[in-house]
Amino acid sequence: MGSKNRNKGFIVWIDLRDRYGITQLVFDEKRTPKNVFEAAQGLGREFVIQVKGKVIERESKNPNMATGAIEVLVNELNVLNPSITPPFTIEDDTDGGEELRMQYRYLDLRRNPVKDNLLFRHKVNMEVRNYLSQSGFIDIETPYLIKSTPEGARDFVVPSRMNEGKFYALPQSPQTFKQLLMIGGLDKYFQIVKCFRDEDLRADRQPEFTQIDCEMTFVEQEDILIQFEGLTRHLLKEIKGVEVDDFPRISYDQAMKIYGTDKPDIRFGMCFKELNALAQGKGFGVFDNQELVVGITVPRSAEMSRKEIDALIDWMKRPQIGSKGLVYVKCNKDGSFKSSVDKFFSSKDLESWAKHCEAQAGDLILILSGEKKTTRIQLSALRIELATRLGLRNPFEFAPLWITDFPLLEWDDESKRYQAMHHPFTAPKPEHIEFLKSDPGSVKANAYDLVMNGNEIGGGSIRIHDQKLQAQLFDLLGFTTEEAKAQFGFLMNAFQYGAPPHGGIAFGLDRLVAILGGEETIRDFIAFPKNNSGRDVMIDTPSSLSQNQLDELYLKSTSKK
Ligand code: ASP
Repeated sequence: MGSKNRNKGFIVWIDLRDRYGITQLVFDEKRTPKNVFEAAQGLGREFVIQVKGKVIERESKNPNMATGAIEVLVNELNVLNPSITPPFTIEDDTDGGEELRMQYRYLDLRRNPVKDNLLFRHKVNMEVRNYLSQSGFIDIETPYLIKSTPEGARDFVVPSRMNEGKFYALPQSPQTFKQLLMIGGLDKYFQIVKCFRDEDLRADRQPEFTQIDCEMTFVEQEDILIQFEGLTRHLLKEIKGVEVDDFPRISYDQAMKIYGTDKPDIRFGMCFKELNALAQGKGFGVFDNQELVVGITVPRSAEMSRKEIDALIDWMKRPQIGSKGLVYVKCNKDGSFKSSVDKFFSSKDLESWAKHCEAQAGDLILILSGEKKTTRIQLSALRIELATRLGLRNPFEFAPLWITDFPLLEWDDESKRYQAMHHPFTAPKPEHIEFLKSDPGSVKANAYDLVMNGNEIGGGSIRIHDQKLQAQLFDLLGFTTEEAKAQFGFLMNAFQYGAPPHGGIAFGLDRLVAILGGEETIRDFIAFPKNNSGRDVMIDTPSSLSQNQLDELYLKSTSKK
């Protein structure tokens, strides 16, 4: 494909591009046959051509190009297909906006940054396959036309033409099938598989995405953590050349307490320090009687100006975060303290806070107070924002960790009932089963997430393999016996035939690839992504069906014509 053409009248240069790079072609009035030279003058951008010629040494070499020392002096030219003018320039820095690039994604794919991302994804994919296959996992496909698998989202459904009024659901994950494979004796399964979740729109969320889905029998949590640390280590080494020895583990409760989130970025410190004992009861209404007073220490930031701090407070007050305010303590270089609450607290008080927060001279302490859950979420957002501003989130550093001991259930205020925190097949910790009746909210699960650089890259659990326990869980989650049977009877039945203990994990491949690639958006690593409203603007879908199709599927048209 010709990309850049320069025509000087007596000499024509063409950049010929394919997947492997660019080679310069030269057509020269003196050395090229006349008809070929004339044809070359008519070539345009993106024409597909076939040439024969002689590889010669270039007069002016380009050291920045792999083929910069040579060019091809052409003596035969065949235009395989001309091209109309592309809607944007096919160069690394294109003039095409996001929407236009998505609409002509096949042209966008010709650009190096996009192409390289797909090659990178291929490499990750192959490493995953090789590693898992060598570890004894077998790649098994599971069906896409299935029945609802609850992973906490809505199902995409497919109407059945053969069964009036009946629908398939597309899998939110192959969860129940991989469990059935374990009951089927397959022992170690994996699949790189599409999953579909009809969730509310959020930036960088795709309605269809890819998981590395895995399951094993006769394992405990420890076996799974070790196995998949192995995979992660392998990927980091092979793909990034980075050796990571340490996979710290912290419990969900600890993570919430120290980082205010279950996906902490641990490439930097700024851990939460609770200040209730030190800061309450001194007559400062904003702190007193609050469930939590908690601070972080921002390194080397005591010299932040009043204006900068005010801007930070405004940032915290935006509806996305919704904080009421922010208390600051500057630990000045000379050992003195200056805070926004000097009226209420003595220098001694501030000193004790600084000590508790492990703040050094020159650091800034920022403190929030309020209801535990909200305050933690707000402070967590502030922690990430400040670390980003301070350049502490190096995309070339990889800091994985496991979050363990998730609560089994989560109270949902809207439906006024418990929901599974992971999914309904997750096993409670054996020693907690007895509390399922008396205090379900306190029950912890053998569920774990693998987090890297502030992103959840994988999550899984040890599963229930006992029919009675599964029935008890469905009951707790508000399913009637009939509903549970109708929806999950197949699994409950299977549990009666000697189901082995099993557990597994699934990694989000799109996000994993983006993180390894050091980029933020997963869209850049998907060949044909949907936009933020779930649309594919290239093929223009979702779209309407013809009346005929609707009739065949027993569906009524709701479009207002
Ligand atoms: N099916 C789960 C998910 O999609 C993963 C697992 O539990 O293995 O998150």
